[in-house]
Amino acid sequence: MSAHTTFKIGGPAEAFVRPGDAEAAASILAAARAEGLPVFVLGGGANILVGDKGIRGIVLDSSSLNSIRPEGEDGLVAGAGLSIDELCLEALARGLGGLEDFFGMPGSVGGAVFMNARCYEREISQVLAWAGSVDAEGRRARREVAIDRGGWSYKRSPYQAGGQAAGELVLEAGFHLRNLSDEEVAATAAAMRARRADREAKGHYRLPSAGSVFKNDRALGAPTGRLLDSIGLRGRRIGDAMVSPWHANIFVNAGKSTAADMRKLIELAQAEAQEKLGSRLEPEVMMVGEF
Ligand SMILES: Cc1cc2nc3c(=O)[nH]c(=O)nc-3n(C[C@H](O)[C@H](O)[C@H](O)COP(=O)(O)OP(=O)(O)OC[C@H]3O[C@@H](n4cnc5c(N)ncnc54)[C@H](O)[C@@H]3O)c2cc1C
Repeated sequence: MSAHTTFKIGGPAEAFVRPGDAEAAASILAAARAEGLPVFVLGGGANILVGDKGIRGIVLDSSSLNSIRPEGEDGLVAGAGLSIDELCLEALARGLGGLEDFFGMPGSVGGAVFMNARCYEREISQVLAWAGSVDAEGRRARREVAIDRGGWSYKRSPYQAGGQAAGELVLEAGFHLRNLSDEEVAATAAAMRARRADREAKGHYRLPSAGSVFKNDRALGAPTGRLLDSIGLRGRRIGDAMVSPWHANIFVNAGKSTAADMRKLIELAQAEAQEKLGSRLEPEVMMVGEF
């Protein structure tokens, strides 16, 4: 799995399957259920730490579910496996705005929907009109965000409720965007470039990582990165797992980090934040498989 995660960490998948379309994906879910095999749905692998012993059962790689089509005058429907960057570029090419804050965030449409990803104070559910899914019984569902507003909150979506295995597989997502004038297209392109440049300047792409390790919590009074900085965690290292020297909430693989060392570093940060600040930090990165 180290080849399929942005951390570049993770042992083997027992079975790795990349269905070519929604029907094939649904059949895999159904067959796995019949055989009692767990299924882990993989998007871009940008928010997961996979254990060194790998993942039992089936890893369903969604990357081939990468279609894109227009919907109405100002909408786009994207397959779950399309990358967020491709989605943003497609929208721009079609003169549609609303996604620019998400440009530069690693990962897939399905992963962003599952996580209700959030960039620059905007979350994906604000541009999402609906998402279509299938579960292990083959039941298709379409969730309209406007109807189920309560299911979406900070880094939460209705898809997390059923857990990640045997849950619903997001197949596609409909985005409601905004028609742009020619001048606005140029401004939107510039805004996208600025977002990517800001991430580059903040060191997001410097070494393999999964972005922010912990969620922010307003109740703690400051962003988590600043809290971890205040207790001297920048640059802290266990083996090749390192708290990045440039942002204390981004942990990086500085070479050949094991999952075990990265997990130890995460636990160490939690323990020190608890001891020195009385803060309970909730991981945003998801631990997957066996450690
Ligand atoms: C450099 C960097 C910067 C980052 N910046 C941000 C940021 O600004 N904001 C932010 O919110 N996140 C950020 N992240 C984290 C990450 O990009 C997001 O969480 C992203 O949405 C994860 O998508 P993914 O496709 O990689 O999901 P994965 O990591 O592959 O999976 C994450 C979870 O989603 C589930 N999942 C994935 N696809 C599906 C599907 N089709 N159906 C059902 N479940 C699915 C998986 O099973 C898993 O539980 C950053 C990461 C990196 C490496």
